Amino acid sequence: MISSEKLQKYKDWIFRTSAYRMALNIISIDKMTVAPAGGSAYRDARTAFLAGELFTIETDPEIFSILAEMKDDEDLDGDTKRAAYLYWKGTRDTMCIPKEEFVEAAELMDASYDAWLKAKKEDDYSIFEPYLKKVIEVRRKFYSYRNSDMDLYDQMLDDYEPGMNREKYDAFFAALKERLIPLIQKVTAAKRIEDSFLYQNYDPALQKQFTDHLLAYLHFDPEWGYQNETEHPFTSWTCENDCRTTTKYVENNIASAMLSTIHEVGHATYEHDIDDAYDGMILSEGVSSGMHESQSRLFENYLGRTEAFWSTLYPKLQETFPEQLKDVSLKEFIDAVNVSVPSLVRTEADELTYPLHIMVRYEIEKGLFDGTISVEGLDQTWNAKYREYLGVEADKASEGILQDVHWSDGSFGYFPTYALGSAFSAQFMHAMRRDIDVESVLKEGRFDVCVNWLKEHVHRYGCRYDADEVLRRATGESFNVNYYLDYLEEKYTKLYHL
Ligand code: ZN
Repeated sequence: MISSEKLQKYKDWIFRTSAYRMALNIISIDKMTVAPAGGSAYRDARTAFLAGELFTIETDPEIFSILAEMKDDEDLDGDTKRAAYLYWKGTRDTMCIPKEEFVEAAELMDASYDAWLKAKKEDDYSIFEPYLKKVIEVRRKFYSYRNSDMDLYDQMLDDYEPGMNREKYDAFFAALKERLIPLIQKVTAAKRIEDSFLYQNYDPALQKQFTDHLLAYLHFDPEWGYQNETEHPFTSWTCENDCRTTTKYVENNIASAMLSTIHEVGHATYEHDIDDAYDGMILSEGVSSGMHESQSRLFENYLGRTEAFWSTLYPKLQETFPEQLKDVSLKEFIDAVNVSVPSLVRTEADELTYPLHIMVRYEIEKGLFDGTISVEGLDQTWNAKYREYLGVEADKASEGILQDVHWSDGSFGYFPTYALGSAFSAQFMHAMRRDIDVESVLKEGRFDVCVNWLKEHVHRYGCRYDADEVLRRATGESFNVNYYLDYLEEKYTKLYHL
């Protein structure tokens, strides 16, 4: 049994590290939302210093040996052992990196983010290219310090989605390709659905007013959540009662901000609903990127794009925009928000073609790390893949390779979890429908009934179990891609009368 003195050191360490993490997180949210760009050099240097301080605390050898002892201590309860194991694993993978290099990398990532932003604004990939090269070098080097037997990119995939690797993702994307490409071809050849009314002029101030109503409908409570505006919507959190989301109002697109709001609130609700007992601990986080994305996409697509979801909201939307929507029925509105057309920008993509956007990124990342794809001319490689899979090509880098923020800080291995998460959602929905008449409760405006089901079967566990165990507990089986493919086939066959 671990001594009470060591246990106290462990608890103090958790409190100290969580304090630093909270500060760094708030600084990062501030940088991405409201901080004036002029102060970035001053702020970045101090942020890197704080990250270095946290690094020293996190990699304390004494704590590492306490964690090693705790993770195998049979006298400890399951929650504590699991938390110790996760902290131990994280510490093991961080402490192998020399501190100076870690601090330098934090500064590089900040500079790289700024370069990406400038490159995107100026539509010029060459501004970002040298940074991307450096970021990849740093990632390669850091992973090499782990001395793992695993392939480099497999390690990255495993960091975002423990248990996943190229072999499993290859099989997943092959299944998607086999059934989705013929379906997309049929949809593209089918009669077009009228959706031009979504792209009229919609005053952003009125959109914001409606979004406040939507946030209330979603039970996104100001007591624990706050929504801001950014170029690239995201969600971040410091604890279960402080979750931040952002959205972006697009003047000539009414669906964009509404759907991104529903999506981000899905992420925030997951964090908020995790068991209180885990607050401040590593168990109080979503278990994996894929699981997180499954919750945001379940909100956005499986609920947020249905007639039942909008049945009580739509009259309010019509009232907000009478000129644009008075002659558009609820059914016409829902058909329009589900239109599938191959497009350039991932975050604006429809549900059916979305996984192909991810496949492009997955193949590029795989190629960057096995040496078959080079950073030079990557914008052209990108365009070629879009031509091949989606039949479209960007003439502006901001709508091509520069559209996503992820590679600016070296988040390689993250993208595939977006497609995987969408597939998890289908399996959760299948299980939810066994217990709840989803259409009926939504028609009564009872979104909370669906949220409570998710809280009970998915959210509350946080990191207590790995993703596959959560799937088994909630649905009775391990991950099965067929729920996702069946769902897409059924939905789009019906929508397009195929
Ligand atoms: Zn998301």
